[in-house]
Amino acid sequence: MATQFTVVVVGGGISGLSVGWWLRKAGVDVCVLESEQEIGGTMKTIRKDGWLIETGPNSALETTPLVRTLANDLGIGDELVYGNDLANNRYVVRAGELHPLPVSPAAFVRSRLWTTGAKLRVLKEPFIGKAEKEESVAEFVIRRLGRELLDYAVNPFVAGVFAGNPEELSVQAAFPKLYALEQNYGGLIRGQILGARERKRRSERAKDRARLFAFRDGMQTLPRAVAKALGPRVRTGAEVHRIRGRSDATTGYVVEGVREGATFEIHAESVIVAIPSFRATPLVEPFDISLARALRDISYPPVAEVFVGLRESDVKRELDGFGFLVPEKEHREILGTIWSSSLFPGRAPRGYVALTTFLGGSRQPEVLRRSDQELIDTVLRELRELIQADGTPVEARVVRWERAIPQYRLGYSQVLNQLQAFENRWPGWFFSGNYRGGISVSDCIINSDTLARRAIEYLRSRQVELQHQ
Ligand SMILES: Cc1cc2nc3c(=O)[nH]c(=O)nc-3n(C[C@H](O)[C@H](O)[C@H](O)COP(=O)(O)OP(=O)(O)OC[C@H]3O[C@@H](n4cnc5c(N)ncnc54)[C@H](O)[C@@H]3O)c2cc1C
Repeated sequence: MATQFTVVVVGGGISGLSVGWWLRKAGVDVCVLESEQEIGGTMKTIRKDGWLIETGPNSALETTPLVRTLANDLGIGDELVYGNDLANNRYVVRAGELHPLPVSPAAFVRSRLWTTGAKLRVLKEPFIGKAEKEESVAEFVIRRLGRELLDYAVNPFVAGVFAGNPEELSVQAAFPKLYALEQNYGGLIRGQILGARERKRRSERAKDRARLFAFRDGMQTLPRAVAKALGPRVRTGAEVHRIRGRSDATTGYVVEGVREGATFEIHAESVIVAIPSFRATPLVEPFDISLARALRDISYPPVAEVFVGLRESDVKRELDGFGFLVPEKEHREILGTIWSSSLFPGRAPRGYVALTTFLGGSRQPEVLRRSDQELIDTVLRELRELIQADGTPVEARVVRWERAIPQYRLGYSQVLNQLQAFENRWPGWFFSGNYRGGISVSDCIINSDTLARRAIEYLRSRQVELQHQ
């Protein structure tokens, strides 16, 4: 059966749903198609016997006021919860022990996470010039801050955010704000000071100042609220197989797929493809084989998220923070652990703690070959050594992402240029998703706002054109 919408969004993760919402808010006749029965993509929440288990993001940084705008628009503003003061305590493992990441220059000087030589090396940073070529995150950090800061700050951080490897990621593409500090201010320390003023003007927050947010009932609250607000405009269980240019008009597209065993066709002026790049590949192939290959080749290393619930009395270490990250140099089997129940209320029943551990990534993709029980055992072994957690878990769950997070590797700007060139060539077709413009939940929300504006601008320009015909 053929239907018609002005804009069809393919993908019901946070990228697709939020662009759907921004468009609807502007009065656009939009529909969102999601292949799974449940919306949210990676952003899903499981509630069980007093435990709150996230399958993907546990929280996000509120780097933009759009998060609050979106929540208020959807009537879930009062469900936003912010990490308590403990959220600022983050630990990094060195020689098997947890060291707090310093949050002030004085704490940096006192810290036992780095040697005196490494700290003195940082003092040179303001006097180091700009790079002449594209650099990996590792090259950038070694040049500006020295090897030890790479090994015991940036390496675990990159594993925590991208599940990635700083040797492979492009600093320009993966950490554009960091790169911009060097480009715009000549250095990180100088940029940190001068950039604060500009951010204040734009009412943005630096990542290190932004508040950590989640939703009282879990991160899926947000996609669910968008779906509720859009009502029948969101169609779950609708897998898109093909997009083709419309034959009865000079522009516009026909989106084809299957829902509940029946094929469908939707005609649209504009189509927004908001799915992982490897799933977009077959849709792009008939139009542009070279872009299709580039999208297929973006690496998404696997990640396992292992949730364990323990009795509070079984954990000897005080869980007074966000959690800890593990540098590669430590040769351990996990990337890090979030102390979920320390940050937000309602994550564990009273008297229990909820811990979420990440394994795999670019560092150890082979870890995902282990069975669920082996992964749980690995986590328990590591937690025993690092935070003196003993006892049998009262709750344990493994979530596997065979292709978790896109890696913005060296040369990534070529992919971005190809995407832009495609959009120029096929007016009304737009790409969205976490492989473009940032992987965090907040970045996805910011990018979908920008994209909605671009789509609206396109629609307006097209109406003008139509009137002239
Ligand atoms: C394990 C993990 C932990 C994370 N932790 C954090 C964190 O703590 N903080 C943070 O800010 N970010 C975190 N992220 C990143 C963030 O969650 C993601 O970048 C973001 O949720 C991606 O949203 P998306 O909509 O772009 O993609 P997705 O969530 O992948 O959504 C895409 C949707 O498209 C659907 N789809 C695919 N193909 C089709 C098709 N042909 N037809 C119709 N539908 C289709 C899929 O079913 C899916 O629902 C984490 C990610 C992972 C994997």
